[in-house]
Amino acid sequence: MKTLEHTPRPGYFGPYGGRYVPETLMPPLLELENAYEGIMNSPQYRETLDELLRDYCGRRTPITLCDNLSRELGFRLFLKREDLLHTGAHKINNAIGQTLLAKMMGKTHVIAETGAGQHGVATATAAAKFGLRCTVFMGAKDAERQAPNVQRMKLLGARVIAVQNGSCTLKDAINEALRYWISHQHDTLYVFGTAAGPHPFPTIVRNLQSVIGRESIEQMKQQTGKLPDYVVACVGGGSNAIGMLHPFVPYDHVKLIGVEAGGTGEPGCEHSAAINLGKPGVLHGELTYLLQDEDGQILESSSISAGLDYPGVGPEHVYLHSIGRVHYGIAYDAEALSAFSRLSRTEGIIPALESSHALAWVFKHAADIPAGSDVLVNLSGRGDKDLAHALHYIPLD
Ligand SMILES: *Cc1c(COP(=O)(O)O)cnc(C)c1O
Repeated sequence: MKTLEHTPRPGYFGPYGGRYVPETLMPPLLELENAYEGIMNSPQYRETLDELLRDYCGRRTPITLCDNLSRELGFRLFLKREDLLHTGAHKINNAIGQTLLAKMMGKTHVIAETGAGQHGVATATAAAKFGLRCTVFMGAKDAERQAPNVQRMKLLGARVIAVQNGSCTLKDAINEALRYWISHQHDTLYVFGTAAGPHPFPTIVRNLQSVIGRESIEQMKQQTGKLPDYVVACVGGGSNAIGMLHPFVPYDHVKLIGVEAGGTGEPGCEHSAAINLGKPGVLHGELTYLLQDEDGQILESSSISAGLDYPGVGPEHVYLHSIGRVHYGIAYDAEALSAFSRLSRTEGIIPALESSHALAWVFKHAADIPAGSDVLVNLSGRGDKDLAHALHYIPLD
């Protein structure tokens, strides 16, 4: 018998995802879903986006063979260089795509949430390019911790609203942006920053970020004559990872790894490993895995990399975990810091602390990876933004 559970529903990944929102949020989400199905599939949208990705953002990004590290490790380590994109990380792939959609929908204003400030900067950048107004919601605590990114957003012409609710961090900024969207939907589009939130955001963001994996498949075939044996990416909300991993899912022989942030790793410490250590629950309109206490209250996440600091995770990751297609590992703060230094010294590339978690997983499991393997890591961003923070922990002499 065919039951409801077994009927594939749009916006669901197995039982995860969906659209668990108040009725007042349904009209803008339905309008977005229509635009996604219509405008985003139009040749005009696709051609304009391709041109912007190439001439404004700097795609396609190269794949670099780390030959010094490969000699040390006994297998070939390749990096997909999203760190070389305009604004320094993969986030612009998504921000430019959704902001272009806003423009073609006739909206004059985009809003965004931001934690560390990276998605806010990417959205402010895209809004400046398209001549749209931009408002960024940021937890008051984050706005204080990430002052340079607040200045960047303002320089780009955005208005930054410091959110004073709850824990004054990312999850509160998302709640506030959703609330604002309800009362300004006629002229405003919400540009969501990761592959999470209510349908259709997880699908839109995955489709926009999948350019990472699609290019990688072509480039690895060109450069090595085959696909890699392992593909590894760090998981915060999950956008760079799903963009890299999704196109590889059909290739069963390619091992896929997502790496969550384990925090300090001390017993009872705060972390951001929603898949490894969370439980099912609803947050920001989706059913997913969440860090929560026994009463189902959301716990504050914590990681040395602000970009991985989210108490939930995108629903497609939870599904890929549940069917065993992607393995989700953990890297701790100290391991990420050590990977941050190691890549800088041996290859002359300073990685973002987020991306350092993916590298750290590879270094930690190097002994289990067969000699002669090809390992591809998504270098989601560059580390300049993390320098001051990382140098608290890393001795330079
Ligand atoms: C924001 C960010 C991440 C984490 O976000 P995802 O949506 O999980 O990709 C990872 N790396 C960098 C460089 C970031 O800026």
